[in-house]
Amino acid sequence: MLKTFKGGIHPPYNKNLTNFKPIEKAILPKKVIIPMGMHIGAPCEPLVKVGDTVKKGQKIGEAKGFVSVPAHASISGKVTAVEPRPWPGGGLMMSVVIESDGKDELFEGVKPSKSLSDLSPDEIKNLIREAGITGLGGAGFPTQVKLSPPPEKSVDTIIVNAAECEPYITADHRLLLERPDDVVLGLEAIMKATGVKRSFIGIENNKLDAVESIQKVVQGKEGIEVVILATKYPQGGEKQLIKAVTGREVPSGGLPMDVGVIVNNTGTCAAIANVLKTGLPLIERITTVTGSGIREPKNLLIRIGTPLIDIIEQCGGFKGRPGKVLMGGPMMGLAQSQLEAPAIKGTSGLLVLEKADVRLYEPSPCIRCARCVDVCPINLLPTTLAKFAEKNMWVEAESYHAMDCIECGCCSFVCPAHIPLTQHIRIAKSHIIALRKKK
Ligand code: SF4
Ligand code: SF4
Repeated sequence: MLKTFKGGIHPPYNKNLTNFKPIEKAILPKKVIIPMGMHIGAPCEPLVKVGDTVKKGQKIGEAKGFVSVPAHASISGKVTAVEPRPWPGGGLMMSVVIESDGKDELFEGVKPSKSLSDLSPDEIKNLIREAGITGLGGAGFPTQVKLSPPPEKSVDTIIVNAAECEPYITADHRLLLERPDDVVLGLEAIMKATGVKRSFIGIENNKLDAVESIQKVVQGKEGIEVVILATKYPQGGEKQLIKAVTGREVPSGGLPMDVGVIVNNTGTCAAIANVLKTGLPLIERITTVTGSGIREPKNLLIRIGTPLIDIIEQCGGFKGRPGKVLMGGPMMGLAQSQLEAPAIKGTSGLLVLEKADVRLYEPSPCIRCARCVDVCPINLLPTTLAKFAEKNMWVEAESYHAMDCIECGCCSFVCPAHIPLTQHIRIAKSHIIALRKKK
């Protein structure tokens, strides 16, 4: 029987728009906008000023604090602005704008590292931090922080999250097919950095070609196992993945390290391999540009900081009237209203839906069918939480574990009354965080 978790849904996956398309290198952008806070934690402090010339891979933002990573120029050229700009997270973020000189010149300090066998665990973690590597699945947590659990947490398992359960997105699938050696090299670096001897690569069974591809590379390697998972959303949620692969349950309010596990995304592993092999920090990533509103859906290797509108144009532009643009997929993606905003480290996808495909429903009263409860992968009571949120009952929402909600959207997806349950719970969470800060 295939490994999986309780709850979840089977939305239309629509991956066939791009899953057969090889990764294509995007053209060099004329301009990039590098936000100083593409990660969870303290934003960076800009190291450059207007008029400076910079080269590809040069550090332009210094990390401030332990939970932070530096930012780098993704092209060579001139700094034309250092100011708050729109970014995909919403609102404004301090950013460095670079106009390209068309040369794409590499910064002199960018050099391949020593081979993995010659690097110490601390040297690996430092390389990862200095390269600005964050989780590439979307959350943007600094990777070196994940790899540095406190001494009282004993981690014995690494899982590579290769589930890619979000509909439409195929960036990791292509990576597993085209660069499986890099994924495994990155995993080996993580194992050495943490001293963990056992690891798993979890892949859903709708990507059996990727299973075959990665299995060829791990054959004969000690401590690395490929696990085939049932195709179900949100199989790639950290807690669901851990449960499916190891049977362990992350407690309410807990972290994967509480059950001895560290989870890293496929793209993150490949980014670590890239630093080891070339010395280049995280300045590019694979983004799936897809949806009914895109003329030529593609898996594009883009430079971080490329304006979203330029990426869309490289895919033939809009098809029909765009109804919705999301950074990420349809379940967990963030709606974008400013297409001048740049792609960031967590931009796994850019989904454009044609106007005709965007359905707006008027919510009706709850019919108490409990479908939302059945599908919640965290065993929450979405309908109760949404009611608390509607009535501003934040303390009650907290006592019903609203903070454990992973905002997967399963409850909203199945609700026959079209109640925006996830939206309500998200609001409750933001109020609970504000209350906690006040205390
Ligand atoms: S309550 Fe949260 S975790 Fe549960 S289904 Fe809804 S969005 Fe997902
Ligand atoms: S799925 Fe919708 S209608 Fe059914 S119990 Fe949940 S909130 Fe009510």
